[in-house]
Amino acid sequence: MSQHDVEAERSRLALQRPDLLREAAYVDGAWVQGATTIAVLNPATGRTLGAVPNLGGAEADRATAAAAAALPAWRARSAKERGAILRRWSDLMLAHKRDLARLMTAEQGKPLAEAEGEVAYAASFFEWFGEEGKRAYGSVIPGHQADKRLVVLRQAVGVVGAITPWNFPSAMITRKVGPALAAGCTVVLKPSELTPFSALALAVLGEEAGVPAGVFNIVTGAPAPIGEVLTGDPRIAKFTFTGSTAVGKRLAAACMGTVKRVSLELGGNAPFLVFDDADLDAAVEGAMVSKFRNTGQTCVCANRFLVQARVYDEFAERLAAKAKALVVGDGLEGPTGQGPLINAAAVEKMARHVADARAAGAKVLTGAEALGGQGQTFYAPTVLAGVTAEALLNREETFGPLAGLIRFETEAEAVAIANDTRAGLAAYLFTRDLDRSWRVSEGLEYGMVGLNSGLVSTEVAPFGGVKESGFGREGAAEGLDEYLSTKLVHAAIRG
Ligand code: NAD
Repeated sequence: MSQHDVEAERSRLALQRPDLLREAAYVDGAWVQGATTIAVLNPATGRTLGAVPNLGGAEADRATAAAAAALPAWRARSAKERGAILRRWSDLMLAHKRDLARLMTAEQGKPLAEAEGEVAYAASFFEWFGEEGKRAYGSVIPGHQADKRLVVLRQAVGVVGAITPWNFPSAMITRKVGPALAAGCTVVLKPSELTPFSALALAVLGEEAGVPAGVFNIVTGAPAPIGEVLTGDPRIAKFTFTGSTAVGKRLAAACMGTVKRVSLELGGNAPFLVFDDADLDAAVEGAMVSKFRNTGQTCVCANRFLVQARVYDEFAERLAAKAKALVVGDGLEGPTGQGPLINAAAVEKMARHVADARAAGAKVLTGAEALGGQGQTFYAPTVLAGVTAEALLNREETFGPLAGLIRFETEAEAVAIANDTRAGLAAYLFTRDLDRSWRVSEGLEYGMVGLNSGLVSTEVAPFGGVKESGFGREGAAEGLDEYLSTKLVHAAIRG
């Protein structure tokens, strides 16, 4: 691709602050180049948007040294001082929301309105944790003997290694970096190689907000060698990962060589239960946001639709009509309801899941076709009826705009199907029956349950999974705990 084509692609961004697009990594407060680069594509057009340094273990090592050197001064600051910097960072993100959103849509594909929503959501973690850092309370325990005083301190864990995915290029970073910095930790981040520009734009604004050199570092490049440092280096005390279950398992195992604190936000396989006493308007609305947001590429996306027999046909018909009405297109070219998938492999997975369900007798209510586009990444929002629980789309996370509907008769049957997976991130249920609301919410083996709601994420509530969806929580007071160590001071007093 010629430089002219790259310029053409970039000019569509029309950034008010063109310097937010950085083609350099950020280590120890300096912008760093590499011997080679990795191209970053716009998935909607398939064209190159720019490139970032292809760094490896040596630079990850240097970033770790910088983060270790910056740690003592950063954790010695008061929580109020750290909070003020995080607050400024959040304000700067909101002030530049338009530019950050356009960059995100260009490298990730989500509709502009969704990208703006993500920027605001991402900024909220800096704001919220900037305040919450002030409440990293310890405790005083009444002594077990008359001459004993027991004091529990909560202290910063230390240097944090973080690896994040491409589907939320900004929020998956701030919900780690916000609490880490608020607690007094320093960070080395490896963002996804597919969406590094949103991460680097955050670093530009962090510098302006007053984040000192070495406190927040970004190493772009080859996942494996950078990952080896972040999971193996003894100077790193905590490793936090958001991404696929397969990669997360391997990296978590590597962390045990140096016994790091670990948090894992991994893949989901969310069931979406619609009972025959549900408000169907709310259920269809909830299904649309849960399923088709970010083109079906969220870890909490409804992946399995379980609909009770009496309302099955009506729900199916109404969901299909709404899905069919979604405007699919390039977010930079006008308002859209759905963007492209991230790459060709994602389109292929969609096609494979659709073909598998159809071969077993599923009926297409809408979609089920690749729509091409310049990047060959657009796929029609799809609703299939008559899907079995054994279908591939119900066994694996599709990560695409595919809703396959299973019919069920009884509550017990629905809960059993919903829990029949190794994933345990989010689940949804729609019902107006109070007793059933409690019974089913408590019976679902998931970290989060949306009750008559298709959305479960907010900075003020704990986000995370059980089973093979991971452990640890992001957001809320629990999110700060992930970056604090507990220390007991056991004192004996005389006299
Ligand atoms: P992925 O696991 O392929 O990649 C995630 C990150 O890991 C990327 O930065 C990637 O470069 C890096 N990586 C890959 N192989 C590596 C290696 N060998 N060493 C070090 N780093 C490596 O996942 P993805 O495709 O980017 O993201 C989609 C997945 O993330 C889905 O499964 C989704 O459910 C999950 N996800 C989970 C949450 C959550 O909060 N639970 C949130 C968003 C996404």
